[in-house]
Amino acid sequence: HEAKKTQQQVVNYFSDLSARADDLFNMSTKIKRALKNQEFELFLQPIFASKHDDMHGAEVLIRWPQNDGTFIGPDIFIKTAEQTGQILAISKWVVLETIQHLKKLKKAGFKGSLHVNLSTRDLESLDFYEFIEPLINLDPTLSDFIMFEITEGAMMTNIDTARSMMYKLNAHGFEFSIDDFGTGFSSLSLLRELPISQIKIDQSFIKEMLTQIADYAIVESTLFLANRLNCKVVAEGIENEYLQEALISMNCDYLQGYYYSKPISIDDFIKKYFYEEV
Ligand code: C2E
Ligand code: MG
Ligand code: MG
Ligand code: MG
Repeated sequence: HEAKKTQQQVVNYFSDLSARADDLFNMSTKIKRALKNQEFELFLQPIFASKHDDMHGAEVLIRWPQNDGTFIGPDIFIKTAEQTGQILAISKWVVLETIQHLKKLKKAGFKGSLHVNLSTRDLESLDFYEFIEPLINLDPTLSDFIMFEITEGAMMTNIDTARSMMYKLNAHGFEFSIDDFGTGFSSLSLLRELPISQIKIDQSFIKEMLTQIADYAIVESTLFLANRLNCKVVAEGIENEYLQEALISMNCDYLQGYYYSKPISIDDFIKKYFYEEV
């Protein structure tokens, strides 16, 4: 009986594994088609300077609209794209589309910078740099208007390449922000080794910081550390005025969250922030 049970477990294990391989394959086929047919869309979420309450910039967040009017969230397909090696193609598309967005935004009066999320996979070869270089030659002001967010959640397998690429981009003026700070494997050593000028405190620490003493302590210490390292700090996940008030009084530089706006399409963004309602 036990042997039979084990045998069944082994069968289940392999059928799960092959189901997952099928899922991955299907998803990678869909992603390829989506890139070809321009199915992806970029949404924008504003980031405000806490001192003057003006717009510091906006984060660019990818969306994948489906025929039924729903979206597949990046949390799902970005992970798949990292596994299938398609992430670099997505990141390149995001950068090119962000440049188009910038043109429209500047025309409307936007003066901030757009924060583009990169995957740590993008930093593991020089391909991304080779893609960016000609774009800088075309427009040397690009680095004034685009900065990169990298999440340290995924272990960096090729830190030497990542470091040299980040310093090369940094030499052209590009700045880097560590996203989801505090949730990954190596936040503190990244701060020491990489050209980081901004830290985004993960929303999981922000949400309950007014009732959870540990969360408050983590936020407070991150602000202290960032200040000592000359890094600016963004607090993500601001959902109410109490969090806003608390973070302003703690001298957090920038604030982002549903309290101000959810991520919205570029047209809605321009309507909301740059044109008076008629
Ligand atoms: P992230 O970069 O940490 O982005 C912040 C996420 O938190 C976004 O989810 C945003 O919609 C959400 N958010 C912002 N303010 C609030 C708030 O007040 N409350 C709550 N509950 N959530 C808030 P989203 O757009 O689903 O993106 C999820 C993740 O997917 C991003 O996390 C980022 O890691 C990744 N991602 C999104 N777009 C891209 C992209 O173009 N390229 C890459 N490589 N990754 C991306
Ligand atoms: Mg981000
Ligand atoms: Mg984040
Ligand atoms: Mg993230």
